[in-house]
Amino acid sequence: MSDAPALLPVEEARARILGLCTPLSAEWVPMDDALGRALAEDVLARRTLPPWDNSAMDGYAVRAADLSGPLPVRLTVGETVFAGKLPVREVVPGTCARIMTGAPLPSGADAVVMRERTRAVPREQAPDAVDIVDIHDAPGPGQFIRPRGEDAREGDVLLRRGTPLGIPELGLLWAQGMASVPVPRRPRVAVLSTGDELCRVDEPPGGRIVDTNAPTLALAVRRAGGVPTLLGIARDTREAVQEALARTDGFDVVLTSAGVSVGDHDFVKDALEALGVEQHFWRVAIKPGKPLVVGKRGAALFLGLPGNPTSSLVTFELFVRPALRRLLGLEDVEPARVSGRLEGRLSKAPGLAHFVRVTATWRAGELWAKPLGTQTSGALRSATAATHLLHFPREHSSLTDGSHVELIPLSWVA
Ligand code: AMP
Ligand code: MG
Repeated sequence: MSDAPALLPVEEARARILGLCTPLSAEWVPMDDALGRALAEDVLARRTLPPWDNSAMDGYAVRAADLSGPLPVRLTVGETVFAGKLPVREVVPGTCARIMTGAPLPSGADAVVMRERTRAVPREQAPDAVDIVDIHDAPGPGQFIRPRGEDAREGDVLLRRGTPLGIPELGLLWAQGMASVPVPRRPRVAVLSTGDELCRVDEPPGGRIVDTNAPTLALAVRRAGGVPTLLGIARDTREAVQEALARTDGFDVVLTSAGVSVGDHDFVKDALEALGVEQHFWRVAIKPGKPLVVGKRGAALFLGLPGNPTSSLVTFELFVRPALRRLLGLEDVEPARVSGRLEGRLSKAPGLAHFVRVTATWRAGELWAKPLGTQTSGALRSATAATHLLHFPREHSSLTDGSHVELIPLSWVA
């Protein structure tokens, strides 16, 4: 019997990791580096926007009270207001202004009638060469007016700390005249491969295999918003792993791959311990990815990922990406989930939650998830066609054809 501690359920493991992460210090970055990051502080509106009531339509700015009787009502056109110009004449009873979308509303007007509900009266019927228009609409006050301050009022909290900056949020800040925003800085992430069987891509293999974990994890780090640094490959000795890990000062997160199982050459846990990394847990009740080890030293988070290429990517998705997003100040960092139906059948022994690579396609109003032919975690190929991970819960042993299932969209797809 093993005396290893009980395996942690996936949700608890993620919660514990997130408990070790707090947003990093703030920096001001240009807008185009802020996309996908979170605000580090509340942002107050510096400008009232729109700065004036303005028209939502091309048409005529009118006084609604002029149009309460029988239609049409004939009005004199005082001026034409274009977007980018300020009106100069008040709209007095019996008059209106021709107005374009986005142009400021002239004083006196309290509604806009769209051009399609009007008919300009030909010049020859207008005795003083004044423009005349017949209005075929009885607007309520405020019709087609975009009120001043609808987007922002000076001094109001425009966006709160923690707000994820998507494209419209950045547009809103841009409209305030902001060219940079405060966000937590990007996590610096060291990536170390371990294993005597590994070589770099530019080395003759000589019986070894190319290290794929480090470069793929580095891409995943970048996609999650972090800044990866490759530390190379450590040989399978305690000293080599320890020596490599000793070069991680200044990093927020250290990712290793392989050497965390119970093999004779699995030295990562020992090396972390020798470096004074406090181990928070080892092993999660999942497949692939069971041997994950998690520790902390100072502010730095150490995550020892399993060596099988697919296992390292799956654990990245389930644990590392949420951690990086939390360091980036984002609050909602749980993996996204969508519901779907299983195409085919699945079975397993209870005890571990399985995260099955599936290709999901939309058919007849539902997302159908088809497990890929091979699920071996050693084969990266089994990950290449996957669009989602299907969560096959720990306590279940079978899922029948058509079962309703929880799917996690993968961040690693093209
Ligand atoms: P280990 O956890 O060290 O037993 O490694 C598990 C499996 O993952 C072995 O088949 C390793 O050869 C493979 N592996 C470990 N590290 C890498 C890597 N960086 N790139 C590709 N395969 C790896
Ligand atoms: Mg190994």
